[in-house]
Amino acid sequence: MWKESLLVVLSLVAFKEICDGVHIIEGLQNDHVHNHWKNIDEGGSMNSVDAKACPTIVTRADWKARTPRDRYNMTTPVPFVVLHHTDMAECFTYDDCCKMMRYIQDFHMDFREWDDIAYSFLVGEDGLVYEGRGWDTVGSHAPWYNFRSLGVSIMGNFTTKLPNQRAVDAVSSIINCAITNKKLDPDYVLIGHRQATPNRTCPGEALYKEIQTWPHWKPGDHFPPKH
Ligand SMILES: [Zn+2]
Repeated sequence: MWKESLLVVLSLVAFKEICDGVHIIEGLQNDHVHNHWKNIDEGGSMNSVDAKACPTIVTRADWKARTPRDRYNMTTPVPFVVLHHTDMAECFTYDDCCKMMRYIQDFHMDFREWDDIAYSFLVGEDGLVYEGRGWDTVGSHAPWYNFRSLGVSIMGNFTTKLPNQRAVDAVSSIINCAITNKKLDPDYVLIGHRQATPNRTCPGEALYKEIQTWPHWKPGDHFPPKH
């Protein structure tokens, strides 16, 4: 049943413009810049953070992540948080969210052909934070911002409904954790993905309205500067 629903999701996302669908080419570009930082063995980044100041973070080992094809070091603290939804199924239990993490990683690596799952961290409606690329690795979730942001994605589609409070609290918690551990500038700017990339609907209309009430959200379009 799970596999069937995954197939349905896969075909849906394959034929509609999804949250991060613009990054097929941009993601590849992002993933192949700065290769002098190449060091796949440094994939696990949680060791460099004081766990006492952080929420429970489900590590890559916990959710049985694949090894990234490659990774590029990100200089921290970063000045931005880019919030996403995955535009895929929601998950409410540890087991389902771990399965979803593996599914999203497979989709991003095999279909999008990125090096790894796109985001820095993901959040489930089980209230847990799931390690994506982690603190110190450049993401593949929003061009230009990939090198200077934490990409946080709530699992689900939040176009017409909001994520539950546990997920919202988890986002707040990972942001505070990032500040405490000097991975994020205390004066950070929060934006929705649609503010970073033209013609996106991410993080969904309902959630986008909600984040406008959150601390540090900044209005307007912050598209990459023209060089
Ligand atoms: Zn997005």
